[in-house]
Amino acid sequence: MGTENRPTLQFLGGVREVTGSMHLIEIRGKKFLIDCGFFQGRREESRKRNENFPFNPESIDALIVSHAHIDHTGNIPNLVKQGFKGNIYSTIATRNLCSVMLKDSAHIQEQDAKYINKEHHLKYMLPVQPLYNIEDVEKSMELFISIPYGRSFNVSQDLTITFFDAGHILGAALTVLDIKQDGRQTRLGYIVDLGRKGLPILSDPVVVNGLDTVIMESTYGDRLHGKIEDGESELRDVINRTYKRGGKVIIPAFSLERTQEVLYFLRRLIDKKQIPALPVYVDSPLAINVTEVFRLHSECFDRESQYMLVHGEDPFSFEGLHYVRRVEDSKAIQFDPQPMIIISASGMCEAGRILHHLKNNIEDSRNSIAIISFMAQHTLGRRIVEREKKVKIFGKEYELKAEVATINAFSSHADQKELIEYVADAHRSVTLLPSIICLLKIRKISHHIKQVYF
Ligand SMILES: [Zn+2]
Repeated sequence: MGTENRPTLQFLGGVREVTGSMHLIEIRGKKFLIDCGFFQGRREESRKRNENFPFNPESIDALIVSHAHIDHTGNIPNLVKQGFKGNIYSTIATRNLCSVMLKDSAHIQEQDAKYINKEHHLKYMLPVQPLYNIEDVEKSMELFISIPYGRSFNVSQDLTITFFDAGHILGAALTVLDIKQDGRQTRLGYIVDLGRKGLPILSDPVVVNGLDTVIMESTYGDRLHGKIEDGESELRDVINRTYKRGGKVIIPAFSLERTQEVLYFLRRLIDKKQIPALPVYVDSPLAINVTEVFRLHSECFDRESQYMLVHGEDPFSFEGLHYVRRVEDSKAIQFDPQPMIIISASGMCEAGRILHHLKNNIEDSRNSIAIISFMAQHTLGRRIVEREKKVKIFGKEYELKAEVATINAFSSHADQKELIEYVADAHRSVTLLPSIICLLKIRKISHHIKQVYF
């Protein structure tokens, strides 16, 4: 791809960095954006990167969205605010998750602007506006066109797209772009983000055939995850140890997918009587809203979870499980001295109700903090993983006396072995090895692929 009249592909974000996925494909003068994610980093830099698009949003004909993670969708309302009027294509579940996730993001943008304006006020600087607000989200939602898995859709004369289950999060899609050029057809596979076989609730990733070129995300292209089953037993062990000490288990968890996965495992462990039937609190309004969307989309579930539903069982409901929406109810949990499990957000412990639970429980050695997600540098979550003796919460220092149990098995991203296996499986069904463009850890993963197949 590259010369005049031939389709061009530009990577505008998410390359050699893990956030801000955004790619531009141009076919005979029409411009299609694939994903429109948030760049997440330091506050000022993030704001600048997210505010300014490297193209005119009005000039984009359509947007294709792979899945609802905020690093793939978070900047959509800003794109719309700045003049984008085309269609937004996604699966149905992704559309519904975006509705919940982007409203939460708008709320965070408003909070962020308030924070920046406090500083600006002190320095006699002009106030800033939130990157976008709820109205921009509502306008964005009106542009969505939802397409189920496996149904091809003509986005333009020269471009047909088909979504396949990515096995990554609810509704996530691997996108096949069939591009016509001078009577020839090219199959481009956007294999981003690739999930894992055997994740709870979700179906396994679909192996897509006949691709000429593959764009592959390889966030974990340089490492191997633990087995998912091992994660379940590690979770079981930390709960039992903590219960024996009469403590509480605090689980910081992302609201989308990880919370639902943990609920799935807790339910299973309680059913098998491998852990005591402790009270479990999901203390995050966003996680509760996301769980409601999960309930609407059993078509995305694996056989086991669908079987449960057919037999009248709800994977996200069991005795002792409480969903906590109201602030007063969240506060009430801290006065209950009984052993319990608290699942709360944000996943990296940077904001939200989890901070209150950590503050109240971190100095008691009977308690445990179960770390089940990746914790980025400079976050409170990372400081806890590294077992710093003292950590700051709400500006005050607390001694880290609770047990810290790090469980690495729950990732929803394919690791190095799984990425390579996926290419091998897809390769079996095509005559030529497709060219592979990796978006991250480019040397490490392509080196391994070369070793195996070239
Ligand atoms: Zn993702």
